[in-house]
Amino acid sequence: MDIKNLTIEKYHEGLKNREFSITEAIGEFLNYAKKENEKIGAFLRFNEEGSLKQASELDKNLEEGLKEQELFGVPMGIKDNILISGQKATAASKILENYQASYDATVIFKLKSDGALFIGKTNLDEFAMGSSTENSAFMTTRNPRDLSRVPGGSSGGSAASVAANMVLGSLGTDTGGSIRQPAGFCGVVGLKPTYGAVSRYGAIALASSLDQIGPFAKNVKDVAKIFQVISGHDNLDSTSANVDYSDVDDFKNFNVKKLVIGIPKEYLIDGMSDEVKKSFNEVVGKIKRDGFEVKEISLPNTKYALSCYYIILPAEASANLARYDGLRYSKPEDLKNEDFKLVETYFKNRGAAIGDEPRRRILLGTFVLSSGYYDAYYAKAQKVRRLILDDFLRAFDRSSNGVDIIIAPVTPTTAFKIGEKTDDPLSMYLSDIFTIPVNLAGLPALSLPVKKYSDGSLPVNFQIIGKHFEEKSILAMGNYYENNLAEN
Ligand code: GLN
Repeated sequence: MDIKNLTIEKYHEGLKNREFSITEAIGEFLNYAKKENEKIGAFLRFNEEGSLKQASELDKNLEEGLKEQELFGVPMGIKDNILISGQKATAASKILENYQASYDATVIFKLKSDGALFIGKTNLDEFAMGSSTENSAFMTTRNPRDLSRVPGGSSGGSAASVAANMVLGSLGTDTGGSIRQPAGFCGVVGLKPTYGAVSRYGAIALASSLDQIGPFAKNVKDVAKIFQVISGHDNLDSTSANVDYSDVDDFKNFNVKKLVIGIPKEYLIDGMSDEVKKSFNEVVGKIKRDGFEVKEISLPNTKYALSCYYIILPAEASANLARYDGLRYSKPEDLKNEDFKLVETYFKNRGAAIGDEPRRRILLGTFVLSSGYYDAYYAKAQKVRRLILDDFLRAFDRSSNGVDIIIAPVTPTTAFKIGEKTDDPLSMYLSDIFTIPVNLAGLPALSLPVKKYSDGSLPVNFQIIGKHFEEKSILAMGNYYENNLAEN
């Protein structure tokens, strides 16, 4: 078995033809991943014993499992801000270094029920704040395509683990671009689902009105399969929507050619690198030559998205992170001290174990929420958020000549060098300029490679943005592009 070229579909073919057992395959994935991880640092830790044990259980039920379960025996990596019962979940923060999850996130429960295997937990920026995975308190992840570069972030470990063939799929979270941007830097496919499409129960919250869990895989079909399994209504998440996604991964009868495609003129900005500009123009050219109807559209409030995001996100994050006081979710050694003082202990623990980026955002967030500033910043940002959503709704309005899907670049540049932006938070924030509006509007978007990049050059992705809960359109379009237009 050569694990390098495997997709979920090919892996299942191998299992069906009895070319290998799940136990053999998982053993091989683990060996390879552990070796590669020494240079890439995609995984914070592996679950070797647990996944081999699970593999041998699954092998006993191979015939039936393969018939009924789309992810049967499939090795996956899970971002370390998603809870798996009995395993650590650190969100790459020192303050959660000793926290062990006592229950499964809904996505984990669903994946387990479908026979998926979790070989380890992947690295991220601390509390998913960042765009390079350099903000992890534990290690730096490197881009498998070029080890001197970042894999993107915050789900850098999940993207790198798929790009380096360590797993067949992974989960990340996307609050402002954290699935689409690392997918782009590493040259894999990633989906940010519609807000409410996937339960957030058991994901360590960053900004609750923006966070969504989503999949990474090597092709669109595999991403669609994982999405199909993890999506759907969940009583444990009050923002979960009731939408039927049971055939979202079946593109057979979907006529992509009827889709009208919009290109937002505000996304072709000056700061964009020549490589990205050229690649995006290539996509537009291919799609037009292939007979698609393509129109220019306008999303005039795009220019406010970054400022709006950096008010709403810190506000929500400062509230969500208030619970990490070093006593809960950890080993509360302090409580044993005789001269224990509560408030001093909070200061001491948070001061010692929360990194620079979360600290910056907690300060910013508590400031914009404080009385006297609330209306000027937070309330205003909420209004701007509505305008950004209205831009998209207008563009998608078929009754006034609107479009069905929108295509845009994912990031202004390709993967940057490790260390290049660590001292300049603003320039780091700018790398999310094309992804953030989609989160503010709660829309789904698929990030996929422009080409196959088999020559080893740095990948460039583009994104396909859809209407709320119309993941099927963007997945079907992505699948069509990948199979018909992405040749080198
Ligand atoms: N890079 C963005 C940020 O730092 C997005 C993070 C995310 O999507 N989790 O906030």
